[in-house]
Amino acid sequence: MAAQRIYLDYNATAPLLSAAREAMLDALGAANPSSVHAEGRAARRIVEDARRDVAELVNGRSEHVVFTSGATEAASMLLTPEWTMGRAPLRFSRVYVSAADHPCLLGGGRFSPESVERIGVTQDGLVDLAALERALDAHDRTEGQPLVAVHAANNETGVIQPVEDVGRLVKKAGGVTIIDAVQAAGRVQLDISKTCTDFLILSSHKLGGPKGVGALVGGADLMMPTALVKGGGQEKGHRAGTENVPGIAGFGAATRQALFSLNHMEAVRSRREEIEKAVLELVPGALIYGQNSERLANTVLFSIPGMKAETAQIAFDLNGIALSAGSACSSGKVGPSHVLQAMDYGEQAGALRVSIGVETEDEDIQRFRAALQKIATKRRTTNAAA
Ligand code: PLP
Repeated sequence: MAAQRIYLDYNATAPLLSAAREAMLDALGAANPSSVHAEGRAARRIVEDARRDVAELVNGRSEHVVFTSGATEAASMLLTPEWTMGRAPLRFSRVYVSAADHPCLLGGGRFSPESVERIGVTQDGLVDLAALERALDAHDRTEGQPLVAVHAANNETGVIQPVEDVGRLVKKAGGVTIIDAVQAAGRVQLDISKTCTDFLILSSHKLGGPKGVGALVGGADLMMPTALVKGGGQEKGHRAGTENVPGIAGFGAATRQALFSLNHMEAVRSRREEIEKAVLELVPGALIYGQNSERLANTVLFSIPGMKAETAQIAFDLNGIALSAGSACSSGKVGPSHVLQAMDYGEQAGALRVSIGVETEDEDIQRFRAALQKIATKRRTTNAAA
């Protein structure tokens, strides 16, 4: 019998949790949550319960949660020059993003390309705070306020960003801070009430919920971007369209579980350390990216010198192990990593990402180690023969 496959690609998407599956199945036949009859009210209850769960994950308030079709849509909604403060229009003239952000921020959303400024990162993968401060000092306030959008934790390296410092700088400059917490949620404690964060972006499928659903969570509700999806008055007019009730139900269930997962991060970290030990023992000259920075407990990005990341990824796949060469790209192709380029590792830097979860077991790590040993030995003998 073929050995069971091992999934070590949680940062691409986490396996669907059974609690999320059940919540979705229960909600599949839900009525329209805007309907006033009993069936509609029952659907509304599902949506509002999930809203409360999502808010709880980040210590926010449920009335400040807007459901979207995912983090990409939440980012596109927030990254716009046109906002309102109560009923008054509010304008942002420029958006500052980190060069290692996810493409959904990097593109600048609804800002024109010339209004998007990329702030560099250090070789340790941290946003360059001095460069951000200089950019904010130089910001021309006569045209509008500055908007700053940075990820909380990097999807490729796992490097955790100094979001509180970012928030403080932005506050000092009179701007607004948006934090993409997609990879950090459920892995590090998030508290929107304590950081200088104005908005957080979340995605259900990175938490073990369904794909195609996410949210933005505000620290308050006075200031909001103009709607991206216009139509009916759903989500208080911020995001039109009948709610994806089963998706939202699954998202809510996943966030409830994520609160418990936070208690298991030390076990996850010790398994990640086993992975790193195997890499450093079995691959001479291997580099672990971002290792001098604080990183998510579940992520390691490393290189195998003399071997293309795609080749190594395929070799792992043939050995029954799913991991990724950098980030999962929408086209399925692997290009040079903009994150490693931003960290000054150059065009050719290729890397393998292993990202695990609470469900990952010691046996999975042992199988990873055995596969790595096989692949590293084969590479050495092939290189020696060449
Ligand atoms: N932000 C980060 C850091 C991500 O890793 C991802 C997904 O890979 C996204 C945003 C986009 O999330 P979604 O798939 O919900 O659009």
